[in-house]
Amino acid sequence: MSVHNFFAGPAILPQEVLKEASESAWRYQDHGLSILEMSHRSKPLTAIFEETEALIHELLNIPDDYKVLFLTGGASSQFYMVPMNLLNENETAGYVDTGTWSTKAIKEAKLFGNVKVIASSEDKNFNYIPKNYEVPTDLKYLHITSNNTIYGTQMQSFADCPVRMVIDMSSDIFSRPFDITSFDLVYAGAQKNLGPAGVTLVIVKKDILEKVERKIPSMLNYMTHVKKDSTFNTPPVYPIYVSLLTLRWIKKMGGVKVMQERNQAKADLLYGEIDRNPMFYGTTAVEDRSKMNVCFLLHDESKAEAFEAAAKDAKCVGIKGHRSVGGYRASTYNALPIESVQVLVDVMQNFEKQHG
Ligand SMILES: *Cc1c(COP(=O)(O)O)cnc(C)c1O
Repeated sequence: MSVHNFFAGPAILPQEVLKEASESAWRYQDHGLSILEMSHRSKPLTAIFEETEALIHELLNIPDDYKVLFLTGGASSQFYMVPMNLLNENETAGYVDTGTWSTKAIKEAKLFGNVKVIASSEDKNFNYIPKNYEVPTDLKYLHITSNNTIYGTQMQSFADCPVRMVIDMSSDIFSRPFDITSFDLVYAGAQKNLGPAGVTLVIVKKDILEKVERKIPSMLNYMTHVKKDSTFNTPPVYPIYVSLLTLRWIKKMGGVKVMQERNQAKADLLYGEIDRNPMFYGTTAVEDRSKMNVCFLLHDESKAEAFEAAAKDAKCVGIKGHRSVGGYRASTYNALPIESVQVLVDVMQNFEKQHG
């Protein structure tokens, strides 16, 4: 019996991706070597980087004036690389604060320039997405977070914005189509919805770079990596390779539109049960519910142990909520099959029958 993986990150990857990745970790194609022991300057590796970049362009419909980069340091390093590269000391960037990750991004940006938090949902423990806020037109950029992994809220659409936008898409990139031209910079740590931890995807509009006055260390300067096609230094070869396998899988499945349909079906099933089942309730505003991280609580906390034991018996792992919300969080990333969601729903229904 297989395990149903609801971890928030690092998270589930398609079974066939893991199989191929492990074969290549032993012997890569007919090269007689593991992919782990081949030079990042070798032909096969160069081909991998090129295909990965091309596939990202294709799947997200990215025009040529953007560059796809494979960096390290996690999405957390983008919290400082973005303002370091885009914001002068006397300029102001706007941030929408929708939870832990954007709060961290705000803290880092303050090291480099002025920061204006133009909207926040902190008043309700980040259980909703602020809307209808005014965006001052003199901001250098507006930073938003598309999906709040910890709180289970997600921007369902991206409002027109009078200034450049930068977006943290760590936990929902490739889960649905979006218009890249609304953004000047998109970043995402791979380990939620794309691949293993270790590579951070950055998609940047090239003409916004090299406009700040400060000196930037080479490794932290986007332009260094743009010029060298992400091989200024040794890139995280294996995480990039496994991400490529996932991207091929997404394409084979029909692309991000099909991912969106699958994710919608899973979310409908799970939220439907949370709303129906009198034992549970959802934690977020209904219109802002994430299709990647489904957060819910028990009405009667004293039954937590029984519910968790039942989930464990059904081999549902990773459903414990983040400590800032408590309760449960079931992450339903691209690779999670709807059958796993059905198993969790069955657990919830049986739990109601036995303890309701
Ligand atoms: C996980 C996460 C991060 C942090 O990613 P790291 O790669 O661990 O630095 C940032 N933003 C969001 C939205 C996340 O989900």
